[in-house]
Amino acid sequence: MSDRFYFDGPLGPGEVTLTGPEAHHASAVRRFEPGDPMTLFNGDGREYPARILEVAKRRVTVHVTGVESPDREIGFPLHIASALPKGDRGDFLIEKLTELGVTEFTPLVTERTVVKGTESKADKLRRAVIEASKQCGRNLLMQVHSAATWGDWIRRQSGRRLIAHRGGGRGDTTRSPGGITIAVGPEGGFTQQEVGKAVEAGWELFSLGPRTMRVETAAVAAAVLFGSAREF
Ligand code: SAH
Repeated sequence: MSDRFYFDGPLGPGEVTLTGPEAHHASAVRRFEPGDPMTLFNGDGREYPARILEVAKRRVTVHVTGVESPDREIGFPLHIASALPKGDRGDFLIEKLTELGVTEFTPLVTERTVVKGTESKADKLRRAVIEASKQCGRNLLMQVHSAATWGDWIRRQSGRRLIAHRGGGRGDTTRSPGGITIAVGPEGGFTQQEVGKAVEAGWELFSLGPRTMRVETAAVAAAVLFGSAREF
């Protein structure tokens, strides 16, 4: 797998021109030259080996020479939802969940949520998914949904649904082919009422041990436990 670049559009054998941050990355950061190999992906599940034809500051033209379909996915839908941690910790969370093969992420708005889940914030997270996918080799992008409010959201989810909750049970980590949805609370925790409503709606509680973790630690631990740990 040579250096990977994202292209926002259909790909196939032939000429493609990279612009924007991807062109900048190839020309100014990686200092690619004509003839160098690279791999393109656009989130359609495949990757496209290519060679550089021409490098300008804001435009890099490449020739796509093939189509490949390596499998780097965890093989079932794993949806993680959490309140967004502050600052860079939100980007860290997205990077790690992408690397761990999580398929969907929803920023949650709960009673004690501090960071607002605006659409521009969601777009920033989507860019972080692309950056992490370039590095880790995923050809399907983790889907980042718009922010959702707890009460409505818990009723709209189906399949196996779990809440990370200190003091909850051990949690059965066998795979559910229908998919698993896991919710992680904000730094202030879920309120008792929020947990109660979800349990009434069929959600299960599970614990990650006796220590209180940060949001991003709990989300990453849950992604390993219910997702990638089964791939080792
Ligand atoms: N002040 C809160 C802690 C919130 S930690 C409290 O005392 O409950 C942020 C979120 O991470 C929690 O809402 C929970 O979803 C998750 N989390 C943290 N530690 C956990 C653990 N040991 N087990 C399961 N979930 C945990």
